[in-house]
Amino acid sequence: MEQNIKSERSIISIIKKLRSLRKPSKRAVVPERLFRKCNGCGELISKGSMEEKLFTCPQCDYHFNIFARDRMDMLLDEYTVINGTARFIDPIDFPGYKAKYKENRKKSGLREGILTVAGHIEGIELVVVSLDNSFFMGSMGSYIGEEITRAFEYAGERNLPILIFSTSGGARMQEGIFSLMQMAKTSIAVDRYGQTKNLYISCMTHPTTGGVTASFASLGDIVLAEPGALIGFAGARVIKETIKGELPEGFQRAEFLRDKGFLDDIVHRGQMREYIYRLLKLHGYRSCRI
Ligand SMILES: [Zn+2]
Repeated sequence: MEQNIKSERSIISIIKKLRSLRKPSKRAVVPERLFRKCNGCGELISKGSMEEKLFTCPQCDYHFNIFARDRMDMLLDEYTVINGTARFIDPIDFPGYKAKYKENRKKSGLREGILTVAGHIEGIELVVVSLDNSFFMGSMGSYIGEEITRAFEYAGERNLPILIFSTSGGARMQEGIFSLMQMAKTSIAVDRYGQTKNLYISCMTHPTTGGVTASFASLGDIVLAEPGALIGFAGARVIKETIKGELPEGFQRAEFLRDKGFLDDIVHRGQMREYIYRLLKLHGYRSCRI
C-alpha cells in the first residue's frame, strides 16, 4: 500500500515536471525570436543567416514566403509604388467579408495582397508586380484583377517590360463569380500588352494555385518558378479522388513541371536579380543610365 502511494506521488511529480517544461518561460521566448524552423529540412536557422540568404534555408535551399516589399528590395536598384488606386468592393454582399477584409488590413498592414512598382535593375527600367500571401492568401478578387490589368496597361503605354511574382490561393471565394471573371480580365490584359511587343516574365512562387495559375501567371512570354514551389489548379487530393489513381512523385512541384515543359526554368532567389537582368538585356532592353 505504502509503495503504491509512493509510486503514485512520483508519477504526479513527473507529470508536474513535464507540464512545467511545456510552459513557455521568458528564456524560451528569446530563441523563438532568433531562430526559425525550416519547413524543408526541420533545422533551426538563425534569422540573421536566413536574411543573409534572402530568406532561403542555408541547409536545404527551402524558399520561405516573403512580403512583396522585401521582394522589391531584393530585386531592384530603387522603385516607386504605382498601385493602390483600385477600390475594395463586396459585389455579392458575402457574409462577414467586409469585417474579414478590415481585419486582414489591420493584421498585415497592407492595403491588399498586391504591390506594383516601377523600378530599375542595373539601370534597366521595368514594372514589377508581386502578390503577397500574407493578405487573404494572395487570393484574386476584383481589386487584384484591376491592379494586374492597370500594371499591364502602364507597362504597355510606356514600352516597359513587366515581371510578375505570383503567390496565391486562387480566386477569392468571397467575391464568387466576380473573382472568376478576373481570370478573363487579366488574360485579356496580357494579350493587349503582348500586342505592344514587350516582354512579360511570370515567376510563380510557393504556392501558386487556382485561378491565378489558370490565368495571367501561366501566360508569360517566359514562365519561371522558385525552387520547390507548389503550382497547380486543383489540389492534389481532389485530383487523386477524381482520377481514382496514384499521382506521380513530385506532382505539382516546380521541378516536376519544368521537366514536363510547363515552366521554362527554375531560378533560385539568390540568382533572380542577375537572371532577370540577363533576360531583359537579351530582349533588347537597355540601361537608361548615362
Ligand atoms: Zn532547410
